[in-house]
Amino acid sequence: MTLSRHRMAIRRIVALVVFTALQLTAEVRTLTILHTNDLHSRLTPLDNHHGGFAYLASAIRHEREGCIDCILLNAGDLAQGSPVSTIYKGVPVFEIANLFGFDAATLGNHDFDYGWQQARDFVEMSKYPIVSSNVVDGKGQLLTARPWVILKVNGLRVGILGAMTDDLHNLTFPAALGDYRTTPSVETVRKYAADLRSQCDLVVLVAHINPAEEKAFLAEPDVPVIVSGHVHSGLEQAMSSQNHVLVRVKSYGEELGRLELTVDTEKKAPVSWTWKKTLIDSDKIAPAPDVAGQVKVWEDQVSTVVDQPIGVSNRLLTKLEVKVLLEEAMKAKTAADFAFINTGGVRDILPKGQVLLRHVWNIMPFDDVVVYGTFKGRDLPAVVTAGKQIDPDKDYKLAVSDFTAANQETQENLRTRGLQFPGDAGLLRDALADLIRKRKVIE
Ligand SMILES: [Zn+2]
Repeated sequence: MTLSRHRMAIRRIVALVVFTALQLTAEVRTLTILHTNDLHSRLTPLDNHHGGFAYLASAIRHEREGCIDCILLNAGDLAQGSPVSTIYKGVPVFEIANLFGFDAATLGNHDFDYGWQQARDFVEMSKYPIVSSNVVDGKGQLLTARPWVILKVNGLRVGILGAMTDDLHNLTFPAALGDYRTTPSVETVRKYAADLRSQCDLVVLVAHINPAEEKAFLAEPDVPVIVSGHVHSGLEQAMSSQNHVLVRVKSYGEELGRLELTVDTEKKAPVSWTWKKTLIDSDKIAPAPDVAGQVKVWEDQVSTVVDQPIGVSNRLLTKLEVKVLLEEAMKAKTAADFAFINTGGVRDILPKGQVLLRHVWNIMPFDDVVVYGTFKGRDLPAVVTAGKQIDPDKDYKLAVSDFTAANQETQENLRTRGLQFPGDAGLLRDALADLIRKRKVIE
């Protein structure tokens, strides 16, 4: 070997070593997460013209155009919230949602409203992986096939881990859950995330969780990115702490989120991020024809039942005002002295103008039943009497929904236990429709 050849060989070796070393050290790659949460089966636009599955699909496709690092995630509660969902137990909604092109999703509490068997069917009929790490049966078996999935995008291995709020049991009828329950979400995620972290470049938690849990997850070292749902108000700005970021958009398909990250593959964490939300304005976005077609098929099925005029409202009633109206309807139905519905049970406003039966379905999509019982004044929950003068020895009739009766001990409901409600006055939805029909005009 001549000297020059020897040098060339050394150079080649050096180049190879440098190249290999570069491959082993950190890379910064981009990842874009498009995300939705709490779509709640609102297939058609809301009364404010926002949302609608066909318009949301169109916006998603627009955001994805030419995007090489985009994934689309959904943070739960796709089911429940419209007549199509109630009447067909969520099935058409999950079928139509297959057209969105989700890459992964998790379940929300309302995805269990039609029973755990139906929730499992939703997982099976979805063309994308649905992951949840802490919903288990009596034997500790997960409801979903897996707690996480690893997506490959733009040279990154992105680990998507799912989680459900610890409140699940308070947010569902016991029968709907069967022997399913949640294991503590933060501890469970911590355990899985540590394992998942070793197998991917970035862990992303897609979670259906309450605000306290959102804060707790932001402090978890192995969970740098969180796509959240459950709280229906969107965030003004992304929540962040250290290098961690959490995002959540408005419910009912009013917004689409877009989180752009640059990811350090050595630190397995974002080095920078920006977040924006797109308002889904059905007056400005052209609907995706395939989704619009499917929505029409299913809306046509229910239209004859729900698009009947039942009265007029002279103004828009907020959810809090609708709560009062629902309680009046319950009292009218049962001749009760008091009525109570939890605020979370009121699912929509009442718009100004002609009131259709559909509006009542949107307010009360649950098949909740009005139940009632008679109690001594001293036994009435404070949240029901709300400061009114009560004779402790007198009998009073109290009407509530069967959901409230079943979950009466929670903060959201009666904050007491042991009250029996033997009376049954039929569907709460019918009680509200009857009241509006009788009054003809809501002032
Ligand atoms: Zn929820």
